[in-house]
Amino acid sequence: MDLMPEDVPNRRIEMLISDFGGVLTSPLVQSFAAVQDDADIPPESLGLALAALTESEGKNPLFELECGRMAESEFMAMMSRQLSEDLEREVEFRDLGERFFEALHPNEGMIDLIREVRRNGIRAALLTNNVREWEPLWRSMLPVDELFETVVDSAFVGCRKPDPRIYELTLERVELPPEACLFVDDMEVNCEAARELGIRSVHFRETAQARAEVHQLLELDAAAGETT
Ligand SMILES: [Mg+2]
Repeated sequence: MDLMPEDVPNRRIEMLISDFGGVLTSPLVQSFAAVQDDADIPPESLGLALAALTESEGKNPLFELECGRMAESEFMAMMSRQLSEDLEREVEFRDLGERFFEALHPNEGMIDLIREVRRNGIRAALLTNNVREWEPLWRSMLPVDELFETVVDSAFVGCRKPDPRIYELTLERVELPPEACLFVDDMEVNCEAARELGIRSVHFRETAQARAEVHQLLELDAAAGETT
């Protein structure tokens, strides 16, 4: 008789699954601000343009972009048209990826945490909502292949967080049950979706808090992991 079945709820965590934007990078709000400054548009205009397009197109163009169903050029053309109409002047919305990434920096505290987790024999994967054309941009920010054994990118798999299918696909790829994984994301809705599938989750709000929660859940010695 097997007294230690594979799927006991308090099974030891064997894999950390991390989000990219806003967790392994500086806050995205700075990048949105840079994009708005560059296009000389007011802060609320991006959200309003997306809402108007979602209404008129019947689907959110940002989600289409992130699921790889829309090219970045098509997204920017659509946004330029909508912003021009909303602001009643010509708005040229371009080089979105370049502008966005110029204002984004690696979050060394979280990158160190991934390294520490790996040193402690825990595996690591990346699960990102991203844009197909941005792959060279985000990959150049951190040593992705050194840190992660698996990358699941929404733009290449055709679905995005918080769709349960993208978490299920990630579990399939790493060949682990949800109980053996820990997920970290800066969007609560993404953490909630992971929890519904039985994946323990840390909602990243700031680096010190996320590091402390991950240390606790993985039973790592916090002091040993401190870099500064
Ligand atoms: Mg994020």
